[in-house]
Amino acid sequence: MESYLAELNDAQRAPVLQKDGAMIVIAGAGSGKTRVLTYRIAYLMSQGVDPFNILSLTFTNKAAREMKNRISKIVGSSEAKNLWMGTFHSIFAKILRFEADKLGYPSNFTIYDTQDSQSVIRAVIKDMRLDKDVYKYKQVYNRISSFKNSLITVKAYFQNPELQEADAMSKKPRMGEIYQAYVERCFKAGAMDFDDLLLKTNELLNRFPEVLQKYQNRFRYILVDEYQDTNHSQYLIVKALSDKFQNICVVGDDAQSIYAFRGANINNILNFQKDYDDVHMYRLEQNYRSTKNIVNAANSIIDKNKTKLEKVVWTDNDEGPKIVVNRLLTDGEEGRFVASSIFETKMQQQLPNSDFAILYRTNAQSRAMEDALRKRDIPYRIYGGLSFYQRKEIKDVLSYLRLLINPKDEEALKRVINYPARGIGQTTMDRLSIAANQYGKSIYEVIDNLDHLNLKINSSTRNKLQNFVNMIKSFTILSQNADAFIVADTVTKKTGLVQELKKDGTPEGIARIENIEELLNGIRDFVEGQKELADSTGSLAEFLEDVALATDMDKDTSDEDRVALMTIHLAKGLEFPYVYIVGLEEDLFPSAMSMNTRSELEEERRLFYVALTRAETQAYLTYTQSRYRWGKLVDAEPSRFIEEIDDQFLDYMIPQDDYKYKPLIDTDIFGEVDKSKLRQTKPKNGTPPPAHKPTEQQLQKLRKLKPASAEPVKATKSVDLSAGNEVEHMRFGKGKVLKIEGVGQDQKAEIDFENGGLKKLLLRFAKLKVL
Ligand code: ATP
Ligand code: MG
Repeated sequence: MESYLAELNDAQRAPVLQKDGAMIVIAGAGSGKTRVLTYRIAYLMSQGVDPFNILSLTFTNKAAREMKNRISKIVGSSEAKNLWMGTFHSIFAKILRFEADKLGYPSNFTIYDTQDSQSVIRAVIKDMRLDKDVYKYKQVYNRISSFKNSLITVKAYFQNPELQEADAMSKKPRMGEIYQAYVERCFKAGAMDFDDLLLKTNELLNRFPEVLQKYQNRFRYILVDEYQDTNHSQYLIVKALSDKFQNICVVGDDAQSIYAFRGANINNILNFQKDYDDVHMYRLEQNYRSTKNIVNAANSIIDKNKTKLEKVVWTDNDEGPKIVVNRLLTDGEEGRFVASSIFETKMQQQLPNSDFAILYRTNAQSRAMEDALRKRDIPYRIYGGLSFYQRKEIKDVLSYLRLLINPKDEEALKRVINYPARGIGQTTMDRLSIAANQYGKSIYEVIDNLDHLNLKINSSTRNKLQNFVNMIKSFTILSQNADAFIVADTVTKKTGLVQELKKDGTPEGIARIENIEELLNGIRDFVEGQKELADSTGSLAEFLEDVALATDMDKDTSDEDRVALMTIHLAKGLEFPYVYIVGLEEDLFPSAMSMNTRSELEEERRLFYVALTRAETQAYLTYTQSRYRWGKLVDAEPSRFIEEIDDQFLDYMIPQDDYKYKPLIDTDIFGEVDKSKLRQTKPKNGTPPPAHKPTEQQLQKLRKLKPASAEPVKATKSVDLSAGNEVEHMRFGKGKVLKIEGVGQDQKAEIDFENGGLKKLLLRFAKLKVL
């Protein structure tokens, strides 16, 4: 046996050694799913599979990089470089560039980030003269995003009366027109948004059989991590690509499905067996990450969910300390407690900062944590939130760079055409914009052809516009021979961006210049990195693609010794010795927005399961007595999730004097937690989860891999419907429910209406009255 295979247990080795065929590994947190994928790739390569033929899809690009490194160590060759590995978005952006012309896009298409997309939508809403309080641009963006992820094109939208009905009901009857205008503007700008990267890939694979075949032949072996969080669009891509050879290996954990709100579809994992011939199902049961206390506490939590696959998770690791629960007066106190606790553990045990993570439900909670960490001089890094690349000055530089690669990029153009100020005012821009619409051209093309167009723009302004275009053109020429660093360096100097900030002279201005320098350093590193790979020149286009798809998680920070702060959503797949889960309060976690239905609550509970299972050695849970929410100090109630953990795994803490709290109001926080305040709903009976490796008999009992509850999950609006019910609809009148299908957000009812005939309605919009 090859030596690395000994680093797997028997259960892990089985899917690694099954070279061909379809397989699914379903297993709880920390059981080595990601390790199985990594070793499987190494094994395939050792069996002579060309790395060019292996496609591996991960949740972050960072995860892909780590996997690649591990694989090159195992197989001991540079071949790993040729593996196709990354997020869905980054892999398919690459493929779309090769094939862009087939879809009518330039191969240098821009990738609009969320900010860009929302800005286009805002402009559409304004141009259509719609009420921006009704058509809230972020809501509209989310809605359009959900259409795209369900593969509902503009045409499909207009053919679907239910969708239009739903939008009309929510007082947005012109949603379809906005969608259409948005899509047209992006297309005209030569831009794809994030969702397009999946939608257009689907279009490509559907419309061009020869392209589909090419990639089917290329990706003979496909592997997907975190399969439970794939959305419909991703599912279809994987399905299409793997259809020919059916060498597909997916790993996931239904208990860690936490992206339903963004369209992730748990049915992808549940139905995998139906999608391929002869599927092998593997289970892993031993957790290598966490202590017994953590594993068992996590088991006791997820046990409360009804919709789940029964799984066994046990560990041979130490018992470990109990999970500490602490109640604080305010979020300020909470921050101080966490910072002190990190400080002390770190000192006592001589640990690096990077052994600690603070996880929260919402980004807003980071501020109190940051304040406290700063006071203690503990270095930290926030993941997510406003990323470096979204800062104003950075986006300004990037917009120039984007523009010289793709001059049609309208969002970039609008941002920089008059920054630094060049006397090109809003009236001119409006005229250009109207002309662009009229001629079906981009604004840049209109400017470039001003001499041939009859526009009301005076000669001095014409000159300014011409100068701008000439400047961009000179950059474009430069970029054809120079690497990304040289171009970016020239752009920051020649455009006057840096001078503008120097003139400003305020501390903010100086910080902005430093950020731009940081950006340039980053570009230099990128270019050097690319040049090391023989086939790359470190061009600007490559850099921009990298930036567009970089999530904050992707920055290589392995050499940084900092405490990690992030939302639980971002923490998926990661692990830390010490984990603090803060803000465990009703309405915050579980979130107030997610308590309407059991399925939403179960998703929150899975999120808590994810949080807890990130911890290797010790977990801390904190909550406050009162917290500022929406500008008001409100009483907080401890989260139900704390009560749901079996008591035997918890250690309720009495804060010690040496944490040096400065209580703001009174000192009763030093008293023991009054457990009578915790709602007494905790079930005391039921089988406690196994603390040690269970006996074979116990395992047999637990190993029933089937959904524990087959009953449909309630629709968002709590419509309790089943087949046979008589209902009434505002427009279609009375009807009879024939069938309910789908789950959660996607639940639909097929109803035979007296007036409207047979209709399929999405329950979350349908507003039905049960008679
Ligand atoms: P998650 O569900 O959180 O994504 P996972 O199932 O992907 O977890 P991994 O991250 O692959 O689990 O593994 C968890 C930890 O256990 C890692 O640190 C991994 O290196 C370690 N590990 C996994 N299998 C073994 C093994 N057979 N021997 C030693 N360590 C292992
Ligand atoms: Mg994993």
